[in-house]
Amino acid sequence: MATLLLKNIEVLVTMDAQRRELHKTNLLIKDGFIKAIGDGPEGPESADQVLDLSDHVVFPGLINTHHHFYQTLTRAVPKAQNANLFNWLVTLYPIWARLTPEDIRISTQTALAELALSGCTTASDHLYLFPNGSKLDDEIHAAAEVGMRLHASRGSMSLGESKGGLPPDSVVDTEEHILKDSQRLIETYHDPNPGSMIQIVLAPCSPFSVTTELMRQSAQLAREYGVHLHTHLAETQDEEDFCLEMFGHKPVAYMQEVDWIGDDVWFAHSVHVNHDEMSLFAQTGCGVAHCPGSNMRLGSGIAPIMTMRELGVNVGIGVDGSASNDSSHLLGEARLAMLLSRVGAGLQGASRSGEDAPPLMSGRQALEIATRGGAAVLGRDDIGSLEVGKCGDLIAFNLNRLEYAGALHDPVAAPFFCTPQNVDLNIVGGKIIVKDGQMVNLDVPHLIQQHNQAAKRLLNG
Ligand SMILES: [Zn+2]
Repeated sequence: MATLLLKNIEVLVTMDAQRRELHKTNLLIKDGFIKAIGDGPEGPESADQVLDLSDHVVFPGLINTHHHFYQTLTRAVPKAQNANLFNWLVTLYPIWARLTPEDIRISTQTALAELALSGCTTASDHLYLFPNGSKLDDEIHAAAEVGMRLHASRGSMSLGESKGGLPPDSVVDTEEHILKDSQRLIETYHDPNPGSMIQIVLAPCSPFSVTTELMRQSAQLAREYGVHLHTHLAETQDEEDFCLEMFGHKPVAYMQEVDWIGDDVWFAHSVHVNHDEMSLFAQTGCGVAHCPGSNMRLGSGIAPIMTMRELGVNVGIGVDGSASNDSSHLLGEARLAMLLSRVGAGLQGASRSGEDAPPLMSGRQALEIATRGGAAVLGRDDIGSLEVGKCGDLIAFNLNRLEYAGALHDPVAAPFFCTPQNVDLNIVGGKIIVKDGQMVNLDVPHLIQQHNQAAKRLLNG
């Protein structure tokens, strides 16, 4: 029975139903779950481990709803720096075709280190090419060493160039193998229970890289096992043109056609969606992983996140990437969501005062999207807020730092308005994975060295 007591927390943001913010309080975690919150008799005097969090603001752990860990090996590739999505992909596919199982391991740990240091406690990843004997297992095993919760998406590509798709035939797989491997992974790893550290998701890559048949069969298989479905959708105008020409539908209508609508589905991006399509997401429970850094980097557009939230769509944050961001800083991404939403509001008249001016996203709303929002998108009710009975997943920032100087009128908003910082403490299921701003389970300098060697080999061929 391991217990961890966090004492004297300056501000604890619960993100519970009342959005309570508690001052000078304590939080006790027992066996991975929150046992007590408060400063009264419910808080014990001691525990197996006690940390004093005076001068710290504590948030629920942030949740990342979209990523491609392996792409940390191909950040800032010169030929892909100034390209839109389709040209960026065509440049990178041949480089990614050289990935090995060891590259998957190294890049997984690099991405998770960056995520953990920037406040993430649960990460979703989308791995959709498996060259040279690579498997999703390589990622799952590497992640287990770091100690973060993982929603590992078994991605796939089956529509190669010769069949009218975008990727070269060398990186696509047969549908028979994709479905067989998906089933094996679910049966081997998927844990749907509260406190789950690993869940499997089925994730054909995008409308322009898999067949209609694979979309349908993936949905059928996922529903047989009760696992979630994920794909890229409505990211660019190119994609919309492709779907209209290839399938006779816009992307969202195509999803309806292939039975990919429901509360077990979430889409990355959803930049190019209209009011009716967003209403459909709200009515049916389809979630959206908003990736503002990637959308800006590739010039994809501004996703209408505030409208989605008004309509009741579940929205989370995803760093995407890391070749299209080129960062895995989750707190920084939540800040970009706030700022990009304000650019969108400005284009709709927010810079002119008046009752009909669109509202600006607040720091607290950005935090809500990155916590409760992400949990809803991933279909979890055991994470995303700090309440008795929920997972002991939380992060803490020391408020005594240069970047927050002069911002302590509102220590909850400061991390979103000021330059994004790394956390001082990150706890997942009551276990400390970042302490004093350092990864507990990883030798980061050694990892950086291995990562740069692997990146160089990939690019040089
Ligand atoms: Zn993506």
